[in-house]
Amino acid sequence: MAQTHFGYETVDEAEKARKVRGVFDSVAKRYDLMNDLMSLGMHRAWKAYAVALAGIRPGDKVLDIAGGTGDMARAFARKAGADGTVVHTDINETMLRTGRDRMLDEGLSLPTVTCDAERLPFRADLFDVACVSFGLRNMTRKDQALAEMCRVLRPGGRLLVLEFSKVAEPLRKPYDWYSFNLLPKIGKWVAKDEDSYRYLAESIRMHPDQAELKAMMKRAGFGHVDVHNLTAGVVALHVGIKC
Ligand code: SAM
Repeated sequence: MAQTHFGYETVDEAEKARKVRGVFDSVAKRYDLMNDLMSLGMHRAWKAYAVALAGIRPGDKVLDIAGGTGDMARAFARKAGADGTVVHTDINETMLRTGRDRMLDEGLSLPTVTCDAERLPFRADLFDVACVSFGLRNMTRKDQALAEMCRVLRPGGRLLVLEFSKVAEPLRKPYDWYSFNLLPKIGKWVAKDEDSYRYLAESIRMHPDQAELKAMMKRAGFGHVDVHNLTAGVVALHVGIKC
């Protein structure tokens, strides 16, 4: 079986999928609180920026991939309105269920599908907009997943990839110190899981940087790709248009 990375570890592909599932099974209950704590609330601004650039119009069909607890799906649903469709998907049932329960508590009911982004169960050319927010990093065959995202979009449709990326030089040292010293400790205190937050820091370092991800999206079939650096490159938003 082919080898891949799980953080800094080299593992076979099936082992990576199993370990990623373990991470999100473990953190699901505390996921939203941890996001606010570890980003000092900044993940809300990064996501709001992505929603603004998605350009969703009433009636649009939108796919949220690796949607987890549903921050993006909820925001998209407000834009797409009653005539639109937003499908909330994730490979992990615990994350998906946590998100679905939160939405139901708010009076929002969206179609929810458990599926692997590398094999999306939707026909070609179906969606106006697709989004993967902080999910691509965890996928095993990223090229395959991007090709699937391209397939299910209509020509002219757009993909938003919001993901941790390569931070600008002056911030690199303090950011590394925070990631490898403080972040796992916050994970230990709040989510009772130090290892998952160490994996988060490692997986960010192993993820393709801004230029490499842009090239991958072009290879997957996106004719035009714009890159927006957020918070000095801590996060990047890639917006690809299917040609
Ligand atoms: N999109 C949400 C957000 O921005 O808060 C959740 C992001 S969470 C860090 C990453 C999600 O990716 C997890 O819910 C995980 O289950 C999901 N994931 C990992 N591998 C996946 C795959 N191959 N297909 C679909 N989802 C996947």
